[in-house]
Amino acid sequence: MDSLVASLKDIVGSEYCLARDEELFVYECDGLTLEGTRPLAVVLPDTAEQVQATVLACREAGVAFVPRGAGTGLSGGAHAVPGSVLIECSRMTRILEVNVTDRIAVVQPGLVNAALSTAVAPHGLFYAPDPSSQQACTIGGNVAENSGGPHTLKYGTTTQHVLALEMVEPDGARVRYGSPTGFAEGFDLVGAIVGSEGTLGVVTEVTVRLSPIPEATETLLVVFPDVPSACRAVGQVIQTGLVPAALEIVDQRTIAAVEDSVYAAGLPRDAGAILIAELDGAACALPPEVATIRELSEACGATRFQVAANEQERSDFWRARKGAFGAMGRLAPDLYVHDAVVPRAKLPEILAAVCEIGDRYGLRLSNVFHAGDGNLHPNISFDRRDPDELERVMKAGREILETCVRAGGVITGEHGVGIEKRDFMKLVYEDRDLLPMLHLRDAFDPQGVCNPGKVIPQTRFCVESNPHARGYDRVTFE
Ligand SMILES: Cc1cc2nc3c(=O)[nH]c(=O)nc-3n(C[C@H](O)[C@H](O)[C@H](O)COP(=O)(O)OP(=O)(O)OC[C@H]3O[C@@H](n4cnc5c(N)ncnc54)[C@H](O)[C@@H]3O)c2cc1C
Repeated sequence: MDSLVASLKDIVGSEYCLARDEELFVYECDGLTLEGTRPLAVVLPDTAEQVQATVLACREAGVAFVPRGAGTGLSGGAHAVPGSVLIECSRMTRILEVNVTDRIAVVQPGLVNAALSTAVAPHGLFYAPDPSSQQACTIGGNVAENSGGPHTLKYGTTTQHVLALEMVEPDGARVRYGSPTGFAEGFDLVGAIVGSEGTLGVVTEVTVRLSPIPEATETLLVVFPDVPSACRAVGQVIQTGLVPAALEIVDQRTIAAVEDSVYAAGLPRDAGAILIAELDGAACALPPEVATIRELSEACGATRFQVAANEQERSDFWRARKGAFGAMGRLAPDLYVHDAVVPRAKLPEILAAVCEIGDRYGLRLSNVFHAGDGNLHPNISFDRRDPDELERVMKAGREILETCVRAGGVITGEHGVGIEKRDFMKLVYEDRDLLPMLHLRDAFDPQGVCNPGKVIPQTRFCVESNPHARGYDRVTFE
């Protein structure tokens, strides 16, 4: 492997190929910290040519590779597999083009999500997908995970905003898919690559749709006695046909963690739950919409209704919401962030069931979630050094997912499958339903060298999807 590392240093420069133990230590995992694997090396390319040369060098050495952005993923998608090279795109941060007339931007994959909206704001434009991690996560990672965020309710997930891609495929070819027009002939392969969790190749360029900054925005903070009544209000709002930009619920435990942290925004500590609602659009359209939300919330038991008085207050509300996961670091050494989706109408009963599961297992469970999308994030704070607690965390997590699936939901809304949910795919798919995904992946990567072992479960498919079972880690690629 020394000769591979030497080739990689030639490609990117020795400063940008990390191979010492103390350098690799921090790359053992992403945001899923429960397990991890130290990679053979980490390469930080600067250009698509360097990505391509890296992929070719890995192939020649018979070594698997894993694309990586900022490592904020929560399902282990960017974890190394044993003996693999991580291709981290975080130096590829250039905005290659902004076309204001067509409202598109062409960017490198390592650009941080929030940096794009900041850069295009002077043109009256923004990039709509806004994961709560947007100050750190990259556009490449967002594409791979089809990331959402609080504003998914109105603006959709990443897939609605990606028009074209360039990708280095697992055989080293550099290929373009899609078109800046948003239309393309034949199969929608951009659609297939978005959300494929880095298993089909390394994305090296992304053409995204930009949206006009709305004329007006109103951000509301509504206090409820408990989470189920806040959920009922969300259902009522959606039923009217109104499409707010965001409808987010934060529970009492999360409020306390946020208020004790640097993200504190003066949220009411005595609230059972708060709903953060945002409306945007033409200025004249918003007052009646605000009134509708107020009326429906009060009918569902809201005890306080506040409209952000200015931009500072608005950004305080969002800083508190988006900093919630970080604030939970105060509660315990470890945090397991779950991510399931249920039909919105079932939110009150599912939330009650999720809390019952947490209590039954004696766990510290909190909820902060994209209520308008039915996208739950039950968060379990725990200490992995306590094996009994860890076991309860895993059992409760499985029960939560099973409960959501029984309600007609799915096992991930935005954090992806990775390794975390891979074996739970059987909760929602029969073996034969998984075959098309397996065949698609094999069409791009017949030798299973690009982020192997992720997304597709390994039980029935162990021979096809496990690189070790196939001996891929031992054979030389042609
Ligand atoms: C505090 C916090 C809040 C979060 N909030 C949200 C949220 O609101 N919504 C949401 O959707 N997610 C959220 N996430 C999860 C995470 O931030 C997203 O999944 C994000 O898109 C990951 O981006 P990244 O750059 O960190 O990618 P990484 O974690 O590095 O990688 C994620 C996946 O993308 C692949 N990948 C990365 N770059 C490329 C590339 N160039 N080509 C091909 N594949 C690539 C990797 O192989 C991996 O499978 C949150 C995470 C944290 C820690």
